[in-house]
Amino acid sequence: MPRKILVTSALPYANGAIHLGHLVEYIQTDIWVRFQKMSGNECWYVCADDTHGTPIMLRAEKEGITPEQLIARVHGEHSRDFAGFHVGFDNYYSTHSDETRDCANNIYGKLKSAGLIETRTIEQYYDPVKQLFLPDRFIKGECPKCGAKDQYGDNCESCGAAYAPTDLKDPYSAISGAKPELRTSEHYFFKLSDPRCETFLRQYTSRDNGVLQNEAANKMQEWLGAPGENKLTDWDISRDAPYFGFEIPDAPGKYFYVWLDAPIGYMGSFKNLCQRNGLDFDEYFKPDSKTELYHFIGKDILYFHALFWPAELAHAGFRTPTKIFAHGFLTVDGAKMSKSRGTFITAESYLNTGLNPEWLRYYYAAKLSATMEDIDLNLDDFCARVNSDLVGKYVNIASRSAGFIAKRFNGQLAPAAADLPAIKSIQEAAARVAELYEAREFGKAMREIMALTDAANQYVDSVKPWELAKQEGKEVELHAACSNALNLFRLLSVLLKPILPVVVAKVEKFLNIAPLAWTDTQSLLAAGHAINTYEHLMTRVDPKQIEKLVEANKESLAPTQEQQSQQRHAEHQQNEVKAESPWEPFCNIDDFMKVDLRIARIANAEHVEGADKLVRLTLDVGNNETRNVFAGIKAAYDPAQLIGRLTVMVANLAPRKMKFGLSEGMVLAASDSTGKTPGIFLLSPDSGAEPGMRVK
Ligand SMILES: [Zn+2]
Repeated sequence: MPRKILVTSALPYANGAIHLGHLVEYIQTDIWVRFQKMSGNECWYVCADDTHGTPIMLRAEKEGITPEQLIARVHGEHSRDFAGFHVGFDNYYSTHSDETRDCANNIYGKLKSAGLIETRTIEQYYDPVKQLFLPDRFIKGECPKCGAKDQYGDNCESCGAAYAPTDLKDPYSAISGAKPELRTSEHYFFKLSDPRCETFLRQYTSRDNGVLQNEAANKMQEWLGAPGENKLTDWDISRDAPYFGFEIPDAPGKYFYVWLDAPIGYMGSFKNLCQRNGLDFDEYFKPDSKTELYHFIGKDILYFHALFWPAELAHAGFRTPTKIFAHGFLTVDGAKMSKSRGTFITAESYLNTGLNPEWLRYYYAAKLSATMEDIDLNLDDFCARVNSDLVGKYVNIASRSAGFIAKRFNGQLAPAAADLPAIKSIQEAAARVAELYEAREFGKAMREIMALTDAANQYVDSVKPWELAKQEGKEVELHAACSNALNLFRLLSVLLKPILPVVVAKVEKFLNIAPLAWTDTQSLLAAGHAINTYEHLMTRVDPKQIEKLVEANKESLAPTQEQQSQQRHAEHQQNEVKAESPWEPFCNIDDFMKVDLRIARIANAEHVEGADKLVRLTLDVGNNETRNVFAGIKAAYDPAQLIGRLTVMVANLAPRKMKFGLSEGMVLAASDSTGKTPGIFLLSPDSGAEPGMRVK
């Protein structure tokens, strides 16, 4: 029976960009989900933007837009970034939704009936100018411990002391600068300290219960205190107007604080998915549900997900999470991500620099384990490992054998040698690798897969297809060697599919097979199976791209307006003064006339076997003459769409012998050397021009 599984990642706050630190969690979760799906389980992956709170409200105000406009924009940015890294949510929703509001009201109502909600009057700082109660991060003042100025209301960045905002000396509002006043207000609390919650949580979080990783379970015992010593505290779940969020049903002017709407966003997002896909929400959330619920989170929100959230669910009549998977933080080159060093890298900048998202997916997978240990993105190691493992080992198997099958055997495979040791060892390892994926031991899985990949390459090296190809009468051996290599490649592709969904989709197309499932590790391609043309699967990382990425993130340090204007001014001056011009030196009309430019009609265009960038063009240049030209425009044009159109060619460029044949000229195209506008733009004459006409 397939398992029914619901998986979540933590909700990113709708007040900032997704960066590589966030992506550790989304990539980890996505790999696990993809593994479940290709194993035949019914697995749903939901998430949402966390959209409420004072920071959103204030930022929208500053930008002169409504909070709804702000969160809609950020939702678009977040969705774009996640899609860019192939994070395949089944639903990426918003906590600012009717479903989340309904769930929040429902849970609140049930907790209230159970006697687990109470109100208390508290004293809080209030900004008399801005007329709102100030969150801790919006109060600044002098550190009560070391006297450092301009410290936040919750802790000192100078000496590290933690304190209450009321402890600050000379406090002021970070919004208006006004001296805040202490005012009283009635707040709503969830009674986490209630003995019912304590009893439930002691059992739920115990090591024996297995919901938490051991290190997390130990931490919970610390937070709960020794038996008889209840260290749990009640949680403030309300905020006063003005606030961007959900108003508490029976309390006008009071709003649910993050604890009572963010995690409920998991339910809201799933409820929305259920409505769209006809799933049964209750089947997943009823107390005796047979389905599984997993939360992937960072270790920083463990208290909240392992104590507060399950207690809330259990006492509102819902099921509790099956397991909570906490991971560590990301460091870059061994240190905390830093804006000044350019290592606070946004998802958007990574993609815009042209780096392949699957490189990062693979690198993170190779580093991830089931523990809460931090993982390090070492930028040199990143280049080395991706180039060696993915390009040098994995892709290499296909690129060394596919061409011979196409050229010599009409694209058809010979029977695979089912008893080949390299094939058998992959088939035997599949169950072990599956266990490692299931246990989130991705690093161990990658080591195992790369050892199998090494063995596959050793096989190819031992049979040497490229030498067999040169020898007379070795057709059968060559056919067998290449067919075995492609079978090995297919099996390894199954194992890597959760990590490399896009590359493996290309592999499926090239091998001409249905989407690979985990059970495909136990089968081989049939004799006579016809494959499609091999197309390049992955390029190497160029360390220069990494340098560019780090530079780009140094620039995104958000300089002040004054700095920006100074910088623009300096750049402007530089452009005027700089001797280095973007233009070529002058040439005279005679020089120009040496270049014989002609109108040409593209009579035919086709792919060039084995060439990454080239398209073979047959150009009609008038007078019943044609020219053969290899043009480096494959990335921008589908050959079929070029046939029949007119362009401009250099007709007297000295013919050049290339690996693929003689090139007799050149077509003209525009491109942006700075890379700001990627692409290649072939020139076209106005209509009426005829092949052979001179361009001058
Ligand atoms: Zn201090």
